[in-house]
Amino acid sequence: MALAAAAERVAAEFEYPKEDVIRGVEHFIKQMDEGLSKQGATLSQIPTYVTAVPNGTEKGLYMAVDLGGTNFRVCSIQLHGNSTFSLTQSKVKIPQELMVAKTSHELFSFLAKQIELFLKTHHGEHYTSHVERRKSYIGGGVQNTEVFQLGFTFSFPVQQSGINKGTLIRWTKGFDIHETIGKDVCALLQKELDALNLPVRVAALVNDTVGTLMARSYTSPGKTGTLLGAIFGTGTNGAYVEKLERVTKLQHMGKDAGDVDSSTGEMIVNTEWGSFDNEMKVLPDTPYDNALDKESNNPGIQMFEKRVSGMFLGEILRRALVTLIKDPAVPLFSDEHSNQNDMHSTTNIHDNSNLYKQWGLDTSFLSITSGDNSGGLKITRQTLDSEYGVSAASAEDAEAVRLIASAVGKRAARLSAVAIAAIIIATGKLERPADIATTNNATLEVNEDDVVDVGVDGSLVEFYPNFEEYIREALREIPQIGLQGERKIRIGIAKDGSGVGAALIALVADKATRGSNA
Ligand code: BGC
Ligand code: MG
Repeated sequence: MALAAAAERVAAEFEYPKEDVIRGVEHFIKQMDEGLSKQGATLSQIPTYVTAVPNGTEKGLYMAVDLGGTNFRVCSIQLHGNSTFSLTQSKVKIPQELMVAKTSHELFSFLAKQIELFLKTHHGEHYTSHVERRKSYIGGGVQNTEVFQLGFTFSFPVQQSGINKGTLIRWTKGFDIHETIGKDVCALLQKELDALNLPVRVAALVNDTVGTLMARSYTSPGKTGTLLGAIFGTGTNGAYVEKLERVTKLQHMGKDAGDVDSSTGEMIVNTEWGSFDNEMKVLPDTPYDNALDKESNNPGIQMFEKRVSGMFLGEILRRALVTLIKDPAVPLFSDEHSNQNDMHSTTNIHDNSNLYKQWGLDTSFLSITSGDNSGGLKITRQTLDSEYGVSAASAEDAEAVRLIASAVGKRAARLSAVAIAAIIIATGKLERPADIATTNNATLEVNEDDVVDVGVDGSLVEFYPNFEEYIREALREIPQIGLQGERKIRIGIAKDGSGVGAALIALVADKATRGSNA
């Protein structure tokens, strides 16, 4: 019984009660406002220069690449103009050594080579005719029509100064190439594409959250459009539709603000909420969170992300488990057959277990154990054995592990609700006149006009059991949202939306350049 009690004690450290959720929302709204008014605030609130969301009628063949936290994807997207599209794609895991390379060239030339390979494989004709033409035109330039317009999804914080211009502010998610900071990432990619003579123009720079928002708007254009695109994957972040007049820092940026198309009166803002409350005024903290941060390669930043996203949840759980394993009073993974009075209590863990290695516990394990319905938690025990060097874990062991894993996952979902709620409240999306009339309406029918649409993507929302339900539970606890408001919030997966989204932004950017050249 000592084990169950110890596990409950640790799980309780991850509780994130209603009052804290409410306090979190208030603070989030405050930091959103700060970020809109000045550069260098905790919430970066980056203007994206994207001033309209699609309506599903967009058409054409575009390319998109996505440098995320784990994979590099290359795709070509045919937009059919009726809210549908076809997509051809290839995906490679980014080699670990390139994430921490010495120079940008090492990473970006790898990316360009993947694009070349993709073109040869999937658009061979296009590729060859281009190379031929290019030879006969030496110095003459290439015609725009035979060049692929590419949307570059780059899922890191970038200070944008135009639709295809932006300098890297900081790396996140385990990337660390010092030389890239402050450089224009579009120019870095274009240079490597040109070195390979590829018929590709980097037309748009896109954060994955912005792509998700665009993709969701294209595929499910509701009456009210999509408000927010959010990623809960290796990292976490959100981008939303803001009133242009509220992005007051654009005015102070002067020439640095570049050209803004103000015709819609709106602009998509990339919050970079991974850094929400780096000051730790309202975020929950445990000894495991604290140690994780101190030993990470970016201590003191991305503090929200370090409690919410896939890169970190496994590591939080690992640290909690190791603390229990090392506690002689707690019999976690202890060998039942050993003599209880033996001074050296023996365990069932291999010395070489991944549980003893930093980042050794994959977040997918949280999804596996939290969703384990097998008798005696057989799946959890098998995974502990095959992946984590724990032989003969008992059902009690597995129960303890699952309890703590679920607490870590649930806290992440409730924190996610803080960010989603703050954006919905700050943009006033629930305060339509219709609401006021229907507040006392006993029927909970939701009118299409009142739907607040949120597009999401990422391994956590996709695979963690009940992630959305936990988010919704927390949303209902927030007074400005409540039961009525929560029902109006539609959350939908925009699977791999960043590819389509980037293509859509490349389309808009391409139209704009042609327009101004004409
Ligand atoms: C990055 C964001 C990105 C998010 C999700 C974070 O680490 O800072 O730019 O949108 O991960 O991929
Ligand atoms: Mg991604």
